[in-house]
Parts: sequence; C-alpha cells; structure tokens
Amino acid sequence: MPTNPEHVRVRFAPSPTGLLHIGGLRTALTNYLFARHHGGTLILRIEDTDRARFIEEAEADILHSLSWAGITVDESPQRGGPFEPYRQSERSESYARAAAVLVESGHAYLAFDSADEIEQLRQRHRSESNPNPRYDLETRLEMKNSLSLSAEEVSVRLERGDAHVVRLKVEPGQSLAFTDLIRGDVEFQSDTIDDQVLVKSDGLPTYHLANVVDDHAMQITHVIRGEEWLPSTPKHILLYRAFGWTAPVMAHLPLILSPSGGKLSKRSAERAGIPVSVAEYIKSDYEPEAVVNFLALLGWNPGSEKEFFTLEELVEAFSFDRVGQAGIQFDLDKLKWFNEHYLRGKTASELVPRARIELEKVGIQCDNARLEDVIDLMRERISFVKELVNSPYLFADPTDYDARSVSKRWKEDSSKLVTDYADAIAELPEFTVEALEEALRALADENGVGAGRIIHPVRLAVSGISHGPGLFELLHVLGKESCVRRMFTAAEVLGE
Ligand code: GLU
Repeated sequence: MPTNPEHVRVRFAPSPTGLLHIGGLRTALTNYLFARHHGGTLILRIEDTDRARFIEEAEADILHSLSWAGITVDESPQRGGPFEPYRQSERSESYARAAAVLVESGHAYLAFDSADEIEQLRQRHRSESNPNPRYDLETRLEMKNSLSLSAEEVSVRLERGDAHVVRLKVEPGQSLAFTDLIRGDVEFQSDTIDDQVLVKSDGLPTYHLANVVDDHAMQITHVIRGEEWLPSTPKHILLYRAFGWTAPVMAHLPLILSPSGGKLSKRSAERAGIPVSVAEYIKSDYEPEAVVNFLALLGWNPGSEKEFFTLEELVEAFSFDRVGQAGIQFDLDKLKWFNEHYLRGKTASELVPRARIELEKVGIQCDNARLEDVIDLMRERISFVKELVNSPYLFADPTDYDARSVSKRWKEDSSKLVTDYADAIAELPEFTVEALEEALRALADENGVGAGRIIHPVRLAVSGISHGPGLFELLHVLGKESCVRRMFTAAEVLGE
C-alpha cells in the first residue's frame, strides 16, 4: 500500500453505459500523462452502480480503446491491485457501511417518500422565484424520513421492508471551496444543493457516494475529470467533510466543443461528421498516435511551436499549468492532418496487416510484397490506410475508362503510341522506374511528340482514370506483364 503522500494516484472511472466516448479517452489520457509524468499509479475503476444503464460489452470496449491508444493502467479489474475489487458492483458492502456511518453520525438520514410524494413536494413549492423546489432544510420535515418520523415509526417501516433511500443532510450556509488545478479557486454554496440521495431504494449507492468512498479507499490523490463533473464536486466536498476525510486535489478538464459551438454532443458531432466513440475511430482506421496527439492538444499547449508528440514525449512535457479553462473546438481537419503525419511515419510492412483487412472487406486479393509496394506508392496520397481501396486499379485491371478522361486524353494516335510503348517495355531488360521513363521519352522523341502525349493515355490505359501517383512508379508497382496487358486491352477497347 503506498504510504508516501507524494505518490500520485489517479483514476479513470468510466461508467460502462455504452461505447467509450472520445472525451472519455481524453480524460483517460490526461490521467495517464499525469500519473506517468509523476511516476505515479493509474487505476481503472469501473463505476457500474447504475444497473439500468449498464451495458455488458462496455467494459471490454473500454479496455480495448485504452490499449489501442497505448494507455496502460496499473490497477484494474483485470490486473487486480492492493485495493481490489475495482468494479463498484463488487464493492457494495463498503458503500452500505459508509452510508451507515453517515446515518449514525447524523450526516445522513433515511427517507421513505415515494416518487409521487416527491413530485407533490415540488408542485407545492413551485413558484416563479422557486422553479425547482428542493428536498432540503426548508422542506425535509414535511416529508417522510427519519428526521420527521418518530424512531418507532422508522423501525416499523424498516421491519415491514418499506422502500427507502439514504439522503445526505446538507447543512445550509456552508462555503464549499476548493482549488482546482485548472480553474484555480472555485466556490459553491451549500444552500444551492439539495439533500442528495446517497443510497437508492435498490440498496445501490449513487455515483456521488460510491465515487467518494472509493477515491478515499483507493488513496486517490488527484481527481482528473471533465468539466461536466464540476457541479458534482461541492457534493463530494460535503461528503468528504461528513466523513472527516481530506478531499483529493481536483482538476476539471475543459469541455470539448462541436465546431458549431456548444458541447460536443452525440447529435452535434454527428452533424459535423465527427465520430463520437473511440470504437468509431478504430473502425474508421485512425492511427492511434494521431488520436492521442490530437487529444492531448485539446486544452493543453506545450508552450512551444512543437505539434507532434509521441506518448512518451507527452508524458515528459505534460503539466496542468498549460491546460486552459476555455472549451476547445474539435477540429476534424486537424485530426486528419495528424493522421497523415503518423501514417507517413509507418513502414509499409507495419501497415500491411491493416491494409489487408480493408482489402478483404471489399474482396480484393493481393500478396504481401505487392501490397507493401502499393502502400509505399500511395502513402503520400492518402489520409487513411482504408483509402487504398478507392484505387482498385492498383489490384486489378480497370474494367472501364472514365469517359471525360477518355475524351480529353485519348487522341487518334493514342492507340498506336500506347501499344508501341507496351512493346518497348516488354523488351526492357530491367523493369525499373528509370528504364520505364527513358523508354517513354525515347518513344516520344522518335515520334516527334511531347512526353505528355504518351503519359496521359498510358495512365488512362493502366488505371482507367486520369489522376494518381507518379506514372513510372505506378507502372513499376503494377509489373511488366500487367502493364503490357492493360495497354493492349485499352488500345483495343478505346481504339482510335
Ligand atoms: N463514472 C463517472 C463517469 O462516467 C466518473 C466521473 C469522475 O471521474 O468522477 O465519467
């Protein structure tokens, strides 16, 4: 058990309610960078107390997303650790014990009200100046709880098995202040907070109780999470005070905004063509290094012109001093730009397995050596590996020829020039890029035409379109036999 107070312990605490959101990965990454920068410990804790929203596959998705991004954790349900279990559903007893302690010490109480009765309370007190009446100091004595009912009645109800929750008794007039590593001094007033439910009628803890109990039990030193959790923090501070525990240091990361402004919601992201779940980034064939680099720079700036950071460099450079408070817009073009950068940095053999998956999806066969050549040829021209399938001529003879290109590029002498070139390259002792180019220039000279007069129809003949990678590099990758065959076929099909 770490006893050194300097030892950083942080946690990523996702709720398994769906596919991991890209914002969740940013939170995980920030926790990882902070932990590694300080030689600390990163914990993965699964917050699965909301059984209504629980999704069985979500935990596997979280693990897969983290490992795809290169984020390793030190303690987790899978790895175990000194504070196991790391799934909240397996820690129920400790929350029940904690709630009992609060009831015992008068910081919490039992409440037997039905949903209807709570709704009636709201209706009774709703007014223009009080649109959202609370269950709090002002109203709690009107309700059915262990503060308003006699001790006998409470025990009768408990024996009878009446449904009840445990609520935090929020005392008014308290300043709930804390220093956030990103936001500086933040203060809330307890008067604005109602008597939070800590244990639901099914006996399970709410997020607030379980989160605080676990952060304390797991000796978390820093809570790093998204800004959307900021309003929860005063409630957590009330709980830390009630338990008599010291709260961890807080850091609330700036919101990720959609290109049109507001918070990046599922809807606004969809509208902007931005994938929301990490699974979609994986499926869309993003380079994990690009996503990591991009996410790290959402809110954090390195204080220099440097833009490309490996995970190790991020660990080295990261600090909260350079994380801003303002929300940051998600710039998909920037992410694509990072993707191109990292794609270009990978060797063809590294990319072959992924390219093969993409090709197989559309039924394209290609041997490894050829695929490596194709990747080297196309790397500068694509943003994603999967774009290779957009150039089917790299893998099979064209089945038709783009009409506009034909009318523009296929002249009356094209058939002859293309077949002459096919004959010339068939004879080449060495099928190299240089030899291919020399042969073409020689043929152009012989016929008294510019090289373009042959280059354009040859490209059309081998690819069916009028744009693509450098022609001689392309011919070289296609191979002699395929080039010659394609040229003769085109001459026959397109004629004079
Ligand atoms: N379970 C919460 C979530 O889904 C954790 C929030 C926190 O980090 O406290 O994000």
